[in-house]
Formats: sequence, structure tokens, C-alpha cells
Amino acid sequence: MASKANKPLRVTTDVDFTVDGKQFSYLNVPHSRNDSAWGSVRVPIVVVKNGEGPTVFFTGGNHGDEYEGPIALLKLARSLEASNITGRVIIMPTLNLPAVRAGTRLSPIDGLNMNRVFPGVREGTVTQMIADYVYSVILAHTDIVVDIHAGGKTMSLVPCAVMHQLDDKALMDRTMAALLAFGAPLGLVLRELDSEGMLDIAVEDMGKVFISTELGGGGTVTTHTMDIADTGIRNILCHFGLIDEAVTTPQARRLPATRLMHTPDDGCFVIANESGLYEVLVDLGAEIEEGTPIGQIHFYETPERAPSLYKARRTGMVVHRHVPGLIQVGDCLALIATDYEYS
Ligand SMILES: [Zn+2]
Repeated sequence: MASKANKPLRVTTDVDFTVDGKQFSYLNVPHSRNDSAWGSVRVPIVVVKNGEGPTVFFTGGNHGDEYEGPIALLKLARSLEASNITGRVIIMPTLNLPAVRAGTRLSPIDGLNMNRVFPGVREGTVTQMIADYVYSVILAHTDIVVDIHAGGKTMSLVPCAVMHQLDDKALMDRTMAALLAFGAPLGLVLRELDSEGMLDIAVEDMGKVFISTELGGGGTVTTHTMDIADTGIRNILCHFGLIDEAVTTPQARRLPATRLMHTPDDGCFVIANESGLYEVLVDLGAEIEEGTPIGQIHFYETPERAPSLYKARRTGMVVHRHVPGLIQVGDCLALIATDYEYS
């Protein structure tokens, strides 16, 4: 198959997206290096197809230190059988495999953030070549993308399904329906600080449904966040008609329904202006008023200096917090979301 540059793809695979059945395969990404002259990186891909129907593409490990996605998608890949679905499911549990292997957000091979390199570069580095294949080949086969993120080692979030505010009302409606169907406790319409090169934007620009998640964080999983991931994946397959089983998973017991919130402007983000030791003053999930002290930074090299206090710039819920005890200038120390009524 040809890429967007109409040259042969550098990434190769023996997977056939058009045949019914279940295939476990790899994307072979050329990676010549000192310890392997003709080496490659093999990124797992699983395709399950049965008949005609929508295609859902699930990704985990877009960032290598976020674990609900890879774990839930490995379970899905093993448990899902073609005979149980109508349509096609494409699963990449470890989209940035080298980053997952290293337990880091960015790829240790090229230092790149997978979620900032789309639409990819055919002649580029390993991360850029993976993105190029996803963009050029997989997205062409795909109707819906679910990209499962979490906070990673440096952030923690109230577990949420995430979408963006979209100009296309019809696409916004379809995406909102998918977001609510996922069934996370919180649905967040997120404003990005820096969206250039995101998989999200690449898919949205194609007019396709894209939802993401931010499930917990701190570089680990909990039973609660795994439950949300496992359940949300099944709910999405149900919502788009790939499976028709009644949702008897814990989601059916989770009340109330998804609370919809958004982050309408930059005032929602609280950014550190100093480096030091971060003391959190309100816990994740707290409902706070504008002006509430939410954290302070202590200066361990100048004990005589009073800590710098950070206050909420709007009323709402603390949906994100900085995790490490050390904080640096420019780090996001908290994100405040407000309730959102969608119509
Ligand atoms: Zn992420």
C-alpha cells in the first residue's frame, strides 16, 4: 500500500485488514542501530473482523507510562473473537512500543512524543514512521478511534473520558454520544494547551469520531481505573453496534451517569511560576470556589522565604494535579473544570 506521499510504506506488516477472522501481527518499523544493523521495532497490532460494520480503532501506550490502555487492550485482544462481533476492531495496545518498554512518556529512541508527531513522517524516526503508518493506512480503514490515556508518572486525574469542542455540530453530536456511552464517571470537553500533532486532531480533521480518556495516573493503575477502561471499551463496542450483549459490566451499576464538565479557557490551568517542593492543599476531585488556595511551592534552598501560594482562578472541580513532590517552572499544577450543559 502507498503512503500519503505515494511511495511504498517503510513500515511493513502481514496483517490483512480486509479478511474476516482474528489476526495477531506486528508493524515492522525499520530501526538500524549499533547492536542490530538490519533491526526493526515490532509494534503489536491485532485485527478482529466479521462481516460488514463500523471499524473501531483502539490505542493504548501512546504515552509509555500510562497503563490502563495497554492492559485493558491486551485483555480485549485475547478475549474478543470474530464470531462475537459485527464489523472490525483494530487494536494497538502499545502504540509507542519503545516508550512502553522504557516506562517513559516519550520514546527513548528519538525523544519524541507520539501524540505530537501526527500525521507522521515517512522518512522520519521510529515514532514518526509509526504515526505515518497509522495516519496513512489505519485511519483510512477506521470510523471511530478510542485512544486510552492516563496521567502518567507526573500527573493524576479524576478518571474521565475526553473529547474536544468541535466546530462540526454533527460530528460533535456523534462524539458526545460516544463519550457518554463510554461511561466514565466524568466526561470532559477539554481545551488543549498544545494540540499541534495530536492523533486526536488528525482524526477529528478527517470528520471521524475520536474520544480519549485520562484515567488516574501516577504511573500505575487502580482497580477503579481498570474497571472504567474495561467497561468503557465494551460500552463503545456496544454503542456502535459491534457487539449486542447487554452491558452487565460494573458500568451498569455505576450511578449516577457521566458528569459532563469542560475547561473553557486558559484560566482553568494553574501553572507553576517557581520551582521547588509542591504541597497540595486540596485533593483531586475537590469542589472549590474561585480564590481557594489549591497548593503552594516551598523553596528548599532558601528556608527564610515563604512558600508561594497558588489559588484557583475559577469555581469548579479539581480534575488534575501534579504528582511528583518536585515541581518546576511551567509545570501544570492543577486543572479546574466546570459543569457543562450540552445541547
Ligand atoms: Zn497520555
